[in-house]
Amino acid sequence: MQTLPDHLFENTEVAFKGKSNRELTRSYYLFKLISNPSLVRMGKWGTDIALRLGIPIGWAIKGNIFKQFCGGETIEECARATALLDKANIGTILDYSVEGKESELDFDATCDETMATLRASEGNDNIPFCVFKVTGVARFDLMEKVNAGQALNDQEAAEWQRVEDRVNRICALAAQVDTPVFIDAEDSWIQDAIDQLANTMMARYNTQRSIVFNTVQLYRHDRLAFLQKSHQHAIEHHYYCGFKLVRGAYMEKERARARQLNYTDPIQPSKEACDRDFNAAIAYCVEHSDRISICCGSHNEQSNLLLGRLMQQHGIAPNDRRFYFAQLFGMSDHISFNLSHLGFNVAKYVPYGPIKEVIPYLIRRAQENTSVKGQTGRELSLILKEKARRGL
Ligand SMILES: Cc1cc2nc3c(=O)[nH]c(=O)nc-3n(C[C@H](O)[C@H](O)[C@H](O)COP(=O)(O)OP(=O)(O)OC[C@H]3O[C@@H](n4cnc5c(N)ncnc54)[C@H](O)[C@@H]3O)c2cc1C
Repeated sequence: MQTLPDHLFENTEVAFKGKSNRELTRSYYLFKLISNPSLVRMGKWGTDIALRLGIPIGWAIKGNIFKQFCGGETIEECARATALLDKANIGTILDYSVEGKESELDFDATCDETMATLRASEGNDNIPFCVFKVTGVARFDLMEKVNAGQALNDQEAAEWQRVEDRVNRICALAAQVDTPVFIDAEDSWIQDAIDQLANTMMARYNTQRSIVFNTVQLYRHDRLAFLQKSHQHAIEHHYYCGFKLVRGAYMEKERARARQLNYTDPIQPSKEACDRDFNAAIAYCVEHSDRISICCGSHNEQSNLLLGRLMQQHGIAPNDRRFYFAQLFGMSDHISFNLSHLGFNVAKYVPYGPIKEVIPYLIRRAQENTSVKGQTGRELSLILKEKARRGL
C-alpha cells in the first residue's frame, strides 16, 4: 500500500456511501442548526425545563438529533445502525449512555445492560468491543472518596466491594466471550480510582491478549508518563496492555475546578501540547505493539493519519487486530469510512438508551459540535461537497 496521502479523508463518496440523499440532507440541516451556539443554549435550556416539568419531548428529538447521534433506545433497535456500519466493514461499539444514576438498583441495571452488550457481541464480528463507564456502576461521591484515599466506613467498604464485583463481572464476561472491553476515562478527581480498577482487571484478564482496555486522556500533562508506567507494570507482571487513546472530553470542567479549588491545572497548557502528547502516545504504542493494543479514539485527521502511516512504516497489516480506529456515531464519517475502505480496523461508538436518559449525552454532542473549533464547519463542508457531487 502507498503511504496514506494527506487528502485521504476528502473522499466524500466513500465517506457518505451509507447515507441516502434524504439522510444526507437531514444531517446537513442538523449540523447547521447546532453550529449556532445561541440555538444550542436555548435548546439545552428548553430541554432542562421540559424534563423538570415532565413534558414529553422524546418525539421532538427522536427523528433528528437522536437519530443522528444514537443507534436506538435498546440493543435491538441498534441493529439498523450496526448493519449499515457493517456494510462498510465498520464495527459497532454499543454504548449504553445512561448517566448520572445514584442508586444500587440503577448500578446493577447498568452492569446487566453492559453484560447484555457483551453477550450480543459473542461470535459477532460486527461488535469488536464493548464499553462502560465506572460511574455507571458506582456512586460518584464514593469514587471521589476512594480516589482521595479517605477511610471508608463499613457500609461504604461494602458498597465499594459491590463496585469491584460489578467491574469484575463485566471484565470476566468480556474474557469469556473474547470481546475486548473499554473502560472510559472520566474526571481527573476520580480517575486514579478508575485506573486502579483498570490495572487490576488488565493484570487478571490480559494474560493471553488485551481484553481490558484502560482509557488515557492526553489532554492531561501527566498521562504520557502514566501510559509508559502502565506499560512497564505490565512487563513486570507479565500481562498485555490495552489502551484507548483520547484527548479528553472535560477540559473546561477540569480547568474550572482547578481554578476554584486552587490546585495545579491537570490539563496541558495548550492544544499543541495536547496534540504533541497524543501523537507521542500513538508512536509509543506502535513501537511497543508486542505488548500493547490500541484504539485511537479521535476525530483528528492528523492523528488518525499518523497512526495509519506508522503502522505502514512498521510493516503492520491494516487489519492487525491490535490496532483500531474509533469515532462516534454520526460524526467524522469521512475518517471512519475512508480508513475502513483501505482495510484498517474501524469501529464507532453507537450510543443507545431511553431517549429521556440519553439527553445529557446529546446535549454534550451538540455543545461539542458548537465549541470544538472547526469540527462542525468540517462536517458541513464535507456534506455540502457530497451534496454537490450527487447534484442535490
Ligand atoms: C471513540 C471515542 C471514545 C472516547 N472516549 C472518551 C473517554 O473515555 N473519555 C474522555 O474523556 N473522552 C473520550 N472521548 C472524547 C475525546 O476525549 C475528545 O473530547 C474528542 O474526541 C475530541 O478530540 P479529538 O482527538 O477528536 O479532536 P481535536 O478536535 O483535535 O481535539 C479537541 C480536543 O483537544 C483538547 N484541547 C482543545 N483545546 C485545548 C487546549 N487549549 N489545551 C489542551 N487541550 C486542548 C480537548 O481534549 C478537546 O476535546 C472519546 C472520543 C472518541 C471518538
